[in-house]
Amino acid sequence: MARLDPHSYFDSDQARTRHLDIAFDVDFARRVIAARVVLDLGGPSRGPLDLDTKGLAIGAVRTGDGRPVPFALGPEEPILGRRLRLELPADSTAVEIVYETTPDAVALQWLDPAQTEGKRHPFLFSQCQSIHARTMLPCQDSPYVRTPYRAAVTIPDALAAVMSAGPAGERTGPRPGTKTWLFEMPQPIPSYLLALAVGDLAARDLSPRARVWAEPATVEKAAWEFAGVEQMIVTAERLFGPYPWDRYDMLVLPPSFPYGGMENPRMTFLTPTLLAGDRSLVDVVAHELAHSWTGNLVTNATMDHFWLNEGFTVWAERRIVEALHGAEAVALAWAIGQNALDESVARFGAESPLTRLRTDLAGVDPDEAFSSIPYEKGARFVALLERTVGRERFDRFIQAYLGRFRFTSITTEDFVAFLEVQLPGVAAQVDSRAWLHEVGMPANAPVFRSGALEALTALAEGFAGGARPAAAQIAAWSPAETLIYLQHLPREVGANACAWLDANLRLTGRGNHEILVEWLVIAAGSDYEPVFGRVREVLSRVGRMKYLRPLYTALGRHPRTRQLARDLYARAGPGYHVLSRRVIESVMEKYRDG
Ligand SMILES: [Zn+2]
Repeated sequence: MARLDPHSYFDSDQARTRHLDIAFDVDFARRVIAARVVLDLGGPSRGPLDLDTKGLAIGAVRTGDGRPVPFALGPEEPILGRRLRLELPADSTAVEIVYETTPDAVALQWLDPAQTEGKRHPFLFSQCQSIHARTMLPCQDSPYVRTPYRAAVTIPDALAAVMSAGPAGERTGPRPGTKTWLFEMPQPIPSYLLALAVGDLAARDLSPRARVWAEPATVEKAAWEFAGVEQMIVTAERLFGPYPWDRYDMLVLPPSFPYGGMENPRMTFLTPTLLAGDRSLVDVVAHELAHSWTGNLVTNATMDHFWLNEGFTVWAERRIVEALHGAEAVALAWAIGQNALDESVARFGAESPLTRLRTDLAGVDPDEAFSSIPYEKGARFVALLERTVGRERFDRFIQAYLGRFRFTSITTEDFVAFLEVQLPGVAAQVDSRAWLHEVGMPANAPVFRSGALEALTALAEGFAGGARPAAAQIAAWSPAETLIYLQHLPREVGANACAWLDANLRLTGRGNHEILVEWLVIAAGSDYEPVFGRVREVLSRVGRMKYLRPLYTALGRHPRTRQLARDLYARAGPGYHVLSRRVIESVMEKYRDG
């Protein structure tokens, strides 16, 4: 018995899934998927096979050749869900499971027509990372297990379906008014990269291999915003080697999507808050694209090694940004990341074990542990390695790393061993043990400087003493510079200062949500009533956790904003994704008056 992943019942001594054949029948009226999955075991197997499930109603289990398979569901464990133990008869080469999801499956968000742009059709999207694939299908829900898959998805014929897979045609559905969309993912992926979305969708081609999907009302805006994606792919290929997934398509989701982006292979999912109208937030696309190499090609073996996915990807994202926009732009990106890192370390406390890169999350819900630390501390560790050996040597190392581990899932220890072989002595030189296993930030963290950055922070730090930027200065700021200025302002300022900022930086009307939310955090935290309407509007529409957490936190500072937060949550809460609801509830529990 060998359970290698604290968040899965996957047992490495048992048969391993080699391929998935999925049939989904999407029922919007009941908010369930009636499903069948065939797990190909790659050869004759027998005995117990443990799968992960959460909230699934298991109907029937049989072998590929139709023999019944005895099964038992274990007790409900709060984080893991229920183990589904199959007892495979001799010579089982495949097993078929017929089941249904439940309306509260964490992986699936079902939207009413009112929650979409078009207001006419319902919408469904999945989010399987970290450990929610098991609420969508019974599987070995650990990144250790990678499988190609094939899927047939039956949906109302007015809608379209996309998956983290290549399109493989359509056919008439099994009932009138339905259509079945076919998909094929030939490369092996971990279960957390399974993805499905269904809605009233339109598509625009951005290049022969890149397409953007969105609701019809949004698709032109999305095509304009992401028009540069082919140039981004070409830049990434120069750095990391040929793009390994054939197509790079993107889907812009309705505003309740809880993340900025999700790197589902062949179909990146994106929040519509990136549609700033000025292409200023496409760094997130660089990030999701970079995951095509770091994360999707070389994958963390478990959530204890999440920094391998995110630290490398933030570093890779900034290499792409640097190649496209230069050294000054990337210094600002590192500074914005530093702000996020400082906030996460402050939230957990510098002594928290969650500030380690290599974590031990046994008994911990990965969603509770989520923060900027694996991203930004991880990226700083990678950047330190790069600085220590020099860019040329490090780029050769990265190519070797991606080549050695492609389509596999690895641990921190695998990485360190490979580093030692390829770049002997470097781990000791940078004190990698401290970076990976100790809490807080090591003293040798790389510093990213730029003239613009220093001027901005100095200006912001003088704000309380009365310093104000001149109109000509403000007019010359890029969106990133405006954001950095706001990030370095005090969290609470007087009403006159709020009025000055809004009049001179024209903040409340901004479409760039990074700037808008940073401003609303200051203004709401300052009990500045003129922004309450905009706060109400943003929180009623947008479900991205990155914005909800600081805004609901800022609203907790004063009695009337606390009341505003409670009223808003009572009204908007049911429309948020369950992951977002959990974040807000944990924030509101800490409000001072209980
Ligand atoms: Zn990422």
